Amino acid sequence: MNLIPLPAFQDNYLWLLHDGQRALVVDPGDADPVRNFLTERGLQLEAILVTHHHADHIGGLDALRDATGARVYGPARERIPGPLQRLAEGDRIEVLGLPFEVLDVPGHTAGHIAYFCPEFEGAPLLFCGDTLFSGGCGRLFEGTPAQMLQSLEKLATLPGATRVCCTHEYTLSNLKFATAVEPGNTQLSHYRQQCEQRRSQGEPTLPSSIALERSINPFLRTGVAAVARAAHDHDGANEADPVAVFATLRQWKNGFR
Ligand code: ZN
Ligand code: FE
Repeated sequence: MNLIPLPAFQDNYLWLLHDGQRALVVDPGDADPVRNFLTERGLQLEAILVTHHHADHIGGLDALRDATGARVYGPARERIPGPLQRLAEGDRIEVLGLPFEVLDVPGHTAGHIAYFCPEFEGAPLLFCGDTLFSGGCGRLFEGTPAQMLQSLEKLATLPGATRVCCTHEYTLSNLKFATAVEPGNTQLSHYRQQCEQRRSQGEPTLPSSIALERSINPFLRTGVAAVARAAHDHDGANEADPVAVFATLRQWKNGFR
């Protein structure tokens, strides 16, 4: 089985899994890169998984469904043009012979879901849409800081080896912010160097892993003293309140260049 990030637009990845014959794609914001890849490899698209309703994640949905007859899965609580199978926390589906568990992860959008595969060639796999990015997290368009923090904590408790397939290549700018928050984190500075090298060679920084994100992503580290202190120093946030620390980090990042 092959796991491939197809670049789209400025910085999106359309994640595609295939076994040489059958394929699944996650969040196809654009049909063209997917269609081209399927044609080049002679693949049949069996399924489309959607995490949330934003255009850069569903823009290619109708065209791909029409062209391939693929089954579409998406969040139960969002307005996405059907036909599709609507999913929420606790639902399980099987695609390409792989089991996926559905997690509710509201915050970026109100009905955002993630897909967790507990066993994919030796380690779990996570498609988390715009909830978790390497070194960062999605903006709060439809949710509260408390909701988003809870969603991120749910993802952070997945096994450390879980490969995290984020839908944007935001890693370098996220790590610049993370370094401002936690300059003394040596794992972070090491990872940042690695990522700079990968990007300079035109390679994706993803997938990441849950263990790595726990050690470098400030949005998963609101309980770490240095992170809470940085939030406090930034705008007086209560260091003992993870939601207040999280809200400060998110706001701070929104204006950070
Ligand atoms: Zn989005
Ligand atoms: Fe997006």
